[in-house]
Amino acid sequence: KPFVAPEGAAQTRKAELKKQSMQEVRRSLPIFPYREDLLAAIHEHQILVIEGETGSGKTTQIPQYLLEDVRGMKIGCTQPRRVAAMSVAARVAQEMSVKLGNEVGYSIRFEDCTSERTVLKYMTDGMLLREFLTEPDLASYSVIIIDEAHERTLHTDILFGLIKDIARFRSDLKVLVASATLDTERFSCFFDDAPVFRIPGRRFPVDIFYTKAPEADYLEACVVSVLQIHVTQSPGDILVFLTGQEEIEACCELLQERCRRLGSKIAELLVLPIYANLPSDMQAKIFNPTPPGARKVVVATNIAETSLTIDGIIYVIDPGFCKQKSYNARTGMESLIVTPCSRASANQRAGRAGRVAAGKCFRLYTAWAFKHEMEESTVPEIQRTNLGNVVLLLKSLGINDLIHFDFMDPPPHETLVLALEQLYALGALNHLGELTKLGRRMAELPVDPMLSKMILASEQYKCSEEVLTIAAMLSVNNSIFYRPKDKVVHADNARMNFVVPGGDHLLGNKPRCCANCSHDVFLAQWLESGYSTQWCYENFIQFRSMRRARDVRDQLEGLMDRIEVEVVSSQGDSLPIRKAVTAGYFYHTARLSKGGYKTVKHQQTVYVHPNSSLFEEQPRWLIYHELVFTTKEFMRQVIEIDSGWLLEVAPHYYKSKELEDSSSKKMPRKQGKTKEELG
Ligand code: ADP
Ligand code: MG
Repeated sequence: KPFVAPEGAAQTRKAELKKQSMQEVRRSLPIFPYREDLLAAIHEHQILVIEGETGSGKTTQIPQYLLEDVRGMKIGCTQPRRVAAMSVAARVAQEMSVKLGNEVGYSIRFEDCTSERTVLKYMTDGMLLREFLTEPDLASYSVIIIDEAHERTLHTDILFGLIKDIARFRSDLKVLVASATLDTERFSCFFDDAPVFRIPGRRFPVDIFYTKAPEADYLEACVVSVLQIHVTQSPGDILVFLTGQEEIEACCELLQERCRRLGSKIAELLVLPIYANLPSDMQAKIFNPTPPGARKVVVATNIAETSLTIDGIIYVIDPGFCKQKSYNARTGMESLIVTPCSRASANQRAGRAGRVAAGKCFRLYTAWAFKHEMEESTVPEIQRTNLGNVVLLLKSLGINDLIHFDFMDPPPHETLVLALEQLYALGALNHLGELTKLGRRMAELPVDPMLSKMILASEQYKCSEEVLTIAAMLSVNNSIFYRPKDKVVHADNARMNFVVPGGDHLLGNKPRCCANCSHDVFLAQWLESGYSTQWCYENFIQFRSMRRARDVRDQLEGLMDRIEVEVVSSQGDSLPIRKAVTAGYFYHTARLSKGGYKTVKHQQTVYVHPNSSLFEEQPRWLIYHELVFTTKEFMRQVIEIDSGWLLEVAPHYYKSKELEDSSSKKMPRKQGKTKEELG
């Protein structure tokens, strides 16, 4: 052909331009002038701490510099958050003009987007931790970057200890510890006085405004502030920090509604959410440049604090809260609580407004609260979480003496002891604290010990088919149904179709017409519909959550071979399923008492979440999946059990005396008998 089609030429030209401009952006980043010095420092030292303002190019550029410098390297770069791992990998693949998953890939739990060709792998810190199980010296890596070190997640903290250890005998391994401008001296100190390489940031001044009085409703205050900025302030995008998906969705809805009402009286406002469970195509949208004349508002969790940088932000709205795990080491209860963020966090948030030009940060709290009510910095996760998972992992790695593990900040002694006790009660450790065969199998599954135990128990109760579905559904459960404001009744009716007597876990496990068909109604019916979006739509079910549940289930089912569990169905009988759940979650037992439920071991008052199918039924004994503290301590995802099973599945934990039911005669159950009672 003598001519290239003009359209094709235009497209090639466009791609060329895009590539050029991307290279220009790369060269404009604060880290770029330090490229050579940085590479020299990495060559010189085995362990290097790198400190740089958020957005200076640490995460996206350093691995590329290394790959451009030395051929044949394999680099692993950890991120505390899934979204960051995915998004950064996508960006770097784009910058390197390769297909995501080939040379550049990412690995997050239940999703591996890498191949044999992958030389740069972004992954969550938890995934790298699991890689120690198959490759204890990380032999295939030449460089490990522990990124976002200042976040001090549990997994990052454990990685510190393990990687410091292997670096001693793997002199060829380079270790980079990258952090925002926080705490770098401590990292250096922990890694035997490793040098700190500082990338000077460019920061424009940020004016900070406080409210005169505390805000009663910070969500509403956010919405009002966004609109005020939009109407009165000069161009520039807005970033709002909220605590989680529900809040973010509510805020976005409110904003869209009010903009619609104002119509053409105001300029266009693009409202974009970002949170962990947001599908990746939606995530990518926050990075699209704002069209001229319009303004963008990104409503984010604290993922936008340091993990992701969105260019063009001039205004930050900070209500001053974040969602935090908190753990009571006495009772072993973990809950998610919305709490005031730390001053360090607040300052990072404000910093987001000054990256491209002078900016403004609107704090929706008083200057007094900032000074007196907020903590200086966030307590490392290792000191406020259940350690069952990592203790099991460390034991599997042959690390028996946990008291003397090289922790940067050690966990509270009671927490460590409690984790050992819980693993013992689950049967993962013997009385000497050594890993049992069951424990070894449990560690093979990339889930929490209780969930792992539940799956393994399904072997004995011959219901692994259903339990796998439950495990998958639990991993997405808060986002399965959707409930549009204008169709609440329809949505609730649709939901009722899936309710199964006995509890939320069984939701979607409703036995069908004949004994031979599959029981996992959700996934099975959806499969029948050809995984159709229409079916989800008609049933008010979130297609994306279903897709994720399906993927999680497939992955778990793929692991059943490894742990030698046969995949069989209980043929419509819910009893074995509930026993398997009990075998994993017997710690989470609550008993009906006056005015609510009380946890069996610690007599803490808890309530059934109003969204639960057992909210009205109130069975005498139940097991919850998780506790969430909002207005009260709510149990989310509950299932009815028989107290007798507790002795069967956890004889070393429960004594029959504790389970005696003094109130049994006074409080007859309203409905729903167990099969045992019936038969
Ligand atoms: P740091 O790790 O130092 O905080 P990054 O390497 O993450 O910095 O970011 C460098 C630049 O790359 C920033 O300007 C940011 O906006 C840009 N960037 C990062 N990820 C993306 C993305 N997915 N899409 C577009 N730009 C991105
Ligand atoms: Mg980064």
